Amino acid sequence: MESSLANLDKINSWLKPIFNQNVYRKSDKYFGFKNTIGMIETDFEGHIHTGKMMRSFVELVISNQISILNNVEVKSIGDLNSEVEIELENGFHFNSKKVFLCTNAFTKKLYDLDVVPARAQVLVTKPIENPPFKGCFHMDEGFYYFRNVGNRVLFGGGRNLDLEGETTTEFGTTDLIQNQLETYLKEVILPNH
Ligand SMILES: Cc1cc2nc3c(=O)[nH]c(=O)nc-3n(C[C@H](O)[C@H](O)[C@H](O)COP(=O)(O)OP(=O)(O)OC[C@H]3O[C@@H](n4cnc5c(N)ncnc54)[C@H](O)[C@@H]3O)c2cc1C
Repeated sequence: MESSLANLDKINSWLKPIFNQNVYRKSDKYFGFKNTIGMIETDFEGHIHTGKMMRSFVELVISNQISILNNVEVKSIGDLNSEVEIELENGFHFNSKKVFLCTNAFTKKLYDLDVVPARAQVLVTKPIENPPFKGCFHMDEGFYYFRNVGNRVLFGGGRNLDLEGETTTEFGTTDLIQNQLETYLKEVILPNH
């Protein structure tokens, strides 16, 4: 916290030409959190409704006469020089002049690129009566992230507890991280729930 505060002016000076304002400031808000040593706040971060985002995305894509093939895994892409062959897991394949890979951490399975996955284990609480905060929050050097989703709290992170183990494209949770997430929920984020 001391180091973050000591660097606040410097970081604000870097960002001011872009946002025309000081982006970060020390916060004296409380939100019912416990065992915290301080907070920094910003007006320049928002969170999105992912369902609405996906609906807008699909509408945009379809309005541009682009087809979407859902629920099919691309098994391989092959360079045929003038075009690319795309092979799907279900045996179907087709050719295309261009391919964009938007496969995030899974890209290395399709193309020899230096991309390393960093899994995030995430939990969502049941709806909470009178949730004490709205917004998104980062803690512990950004290794943890939480936000409200309606009356629920979405909370994830803890990759720093097992950096090597979390460098994986496997889906799943581990006791080590799940237990830490639950402990932070109880002791820091929602101590009164
Ligand atoms: C719980 C959670 C909450 C988040 N909330 C926010 C937020 O509020 N704001 C924000 O800015 N960011 C948020 N993020 C981060 C954000 O979701 C990611 O940064 C973003 O989704 C990355 O987009 P992307 O298109 O690069 O990859 P992804 O969204 O990961 O998309 C990659 C896609 O490729 C598909 N794919 C992979 N391999 C194959 C294959 N072989 N064949 C076919 N398909 C394949 C995957 O199924 C996936 O659909 C959140 C992340 C999580 C986990």
